[in-house]
Amino acid sequence: MKLRKDFNPDDILILEHGFEKEFNMFNEVSPVLVQSSLFTEENLNAFHRKHELERENYIYTRGHNPTTRLLELKLAQLEQGENAKVFASGMAAISATILSLMKQDEHILFINHCYGTTMALLDEYQKFNITYDIIYSNNYEVIKKAIKPNTKYIYFESPSSLLLDLLDIKKVSKLAKKHGCCTIFDNTISTPLLQKPLNLGVDIVIHSLSKYIGGHSDLLGGVVISSNAYIDKILEVGHQYFGACISPYTSWLILRSLRTLHVRLAYQMDSIKQIISFLQQQPQVLKINHPLCNATSFLSKQMSGYTSLLSFTINTFDYETICRFVDALKLIKIGVSWGGFESLILVVYRGNNEQVLQASNLPLNLIRLYVGLESSVSIINDLALAFKTLEVKQ
Ligand SMILES: *Cc1c(COP(=O)(O)O)cnc(C)c1O
Repeated sequence: MKLRKDFNPDDILILEHGFEKEFNMFNEVSPVLVQSSLFTEENLNAFHRKHELERENYIYTRGHNPTTRLLELKLAQLEQGENAKVFASGMAAISATILSLMKQDEHILFINHCYGTTMALLDEYQKFNITYDIIYSNNYEVIKKAIKPNTKYIYFESPSSLLLDLLDIKKVSKLAKKHGCCTIFDNTISTPLLQKPLNLGVDIVIHSLSKYIGGHSDLLGGVVISSNAYIDKILEVGHQYFGACISPYTSWLILRSLRTLHVRLAYQMDSIKQIISFLQQQPQVLKINHPLCNATSFLSKQMSGYTSLLSFTINTFDYETICRFVDALKLIKIGVSWGGFESLILVVYRGNNEQVLQASNLPLNLIRLYVGLESSVSIINDLALAFKTLEVKQ
């Protein structure tokens, strides 16, 4: 894929100062933080009128808050959606969406590897007779066959969690529409700067803001972006009733982080290219999973760039050897999540969960690597030492 550092200029304007004028009070250059939990009115009539249009008014921060609203407007505009609702975490956004919309006896179909906790949530909600299936396939005929008469939602990611599998978003959305299904797409890995699924026919887009958008491993957040009709429903039920609302201070931190998103991503796009070419030269690496290593015909039509999350398989299934490899890393830390300054490594194999991994189509020798903001030279030096622990067959 062509390296793009020329982000959409309209997106850059949104990151920089989009909607900030509407919220400006003192000619401040950094948006005002409104930490207030409630907002009062001059008279009772005005107070009651305000309640009639709750979607547009500031009454109580569990509904709307000005600092969070500025963030929502920016995120909706970046994804080119009508409206957005921000939540306390990515999982809060995912659970609020699914539980606000899905009814008893309905079925949701997941394609490829979606974020693990999302699947665990659906396991839990089988008790309400909300059922799900996961299909591990990029074949549209196979996907079509997996749609049941009561399938009302199709949920997918591309690139997908862990294996970074790619799906033709336009094709899946079209297929879903034909079968009367609503599509939910988790766009966390690409950020709205590099992929805009709503423009490709998806109904609802979700992000964890805890990753690239938050960008500093110091906050949690999530967002749902969609039409006013969907957002109204998710706001009313999933946001108001479940109450996983973000703190205005966290929204303010995310507004700060948005201003450097394009700069961080451009740097990381350069780094990941260096890391991939290093990995390609290692005989211990069997396969690299990243959009740059996956030539599909639709890719350039749906993504304008790629981020710095990849996975690869190595030449051993031996748990002790895998531990030795990972433990040899000094700069790259072992940890979940990604999107911050520090590079991170994650191994799904625990030495005793072969069956679980096989059932979910994951190789035992899979290593996930997030390339952070350290120099690519430091990251490569660190990896090079770890690869020395792995035997090379002549
Ligand atoms: C991290 C992540 C989530 C969950 O977000 P949290 O903010 O950790 O709750 C959901 N989807 C994807 C793809 C993620 O990477």
